[in-house]
Amino acid sequence: MKGAILTAAITILVAGTVFGVTAWKNRSHVGGGPLANVELRWLREYAAWSAPIDRAIQRGTRISSLRCRDEAARRVGDAPSKRLTRVARLVLTACRILAAEAVPDRTQSWFTARQALGDVLTMNLPLPTRLGQTDVSRIDPRLSRFATLIADRSTQVRCWSVDGWLHVATEWRVLTSHVPEFWPLGIADKVRGRTDLAPEVCAPLETSLAQGPPPGSTNNERYVLTEALMIFAHEAEHHRNPQAAEAVVECYAIQDIRRVAILFNGTKTFANEAALLARDVAYPRQYASYRTRACRAGGPLDRTPGDGRWP
Ligand SMILES: [Zn+2]
Repeated sequence: MKGAILTAAITILVAGTVFGVTAWKNRSHVGGGPLANVELRWLREYAAWSAPIDRAIQRGTRISSLRCRDEAARRVGDAPSKRLTRVARLVLTACRILAAEAVPDRTQSWFTARQALGDVLTMNLPLPTRLGQTDVSRIDPRLSRFATLIADRSTQVRCWSVDGWLHVATEWRVLTSHVPEFWPLGIADKVRGRTDLAPEVCAPLETSLAQGPPPGSTNNERYVLTEALMIFAHEAEHHRNPQAAEAVVECYAIQDIRRVAILFNGTKTFANEAALLARDVAYPRQYASYRTRACRAGGPLDRTPGDGRWP
């Protein structure tokens, strides 16, 4: 995932949407659109309740049967809509199946339940295929082809509208319990082989494809494009290295930057400029967890050590 620190105003706006909701009891949401506020609040309860279960599965440690019927489980069971009631039933049943074992081994029902939850999230809504510059949420075939090249595996890229991304990012943040100031700009779904991108990432990429990078020497528009190229490469590297930590992924992304710049219609001059901007401006500004000392010329993550070039 790749994010940026947004202005406080936007963070507060989003936090208000997510957390400033009223109790959902006796309220119901019907329909197939984005999650309603009451459903987001349920999602937050679910995220807090399910995190220790996910950890137990990962570590192969026992899940107490109490977890499936404690107060948090009761709140999860009390879902605010028909679509979430179905998910709640599945996760609680799966919880009991897991808790019946010394080591959580029969994880299939848990992953089936997770899948059912995934199916109601905005990010998994079906989208039409559209080419080029447009503001609608769509599958982008050209970006998909480029991502597949960089990731070295079949990857679908979807670009979201402003309103669509607000829902995608909000739901994702609630589900992953990220710190409030983290606002995602790209999400790699490794299971589905898909990258979802914010409109502010897709727009400069599409413009560059249509008319080349913004003219002139280093300027803000060229930097905005460079950041978009970095995010694009970052998500592709997640698919290429599904187990890799963020800092490793980011380090590979920075080394893709010239190649990606050329794919997106950049000249060799622009590709070199983008590489330097990525190295000297974008990389140092990244979250600490996205950086590592191993990411340097001749370091353990240098794909071409000794070539006298970095990245
Ligand atoms: Zn990432």
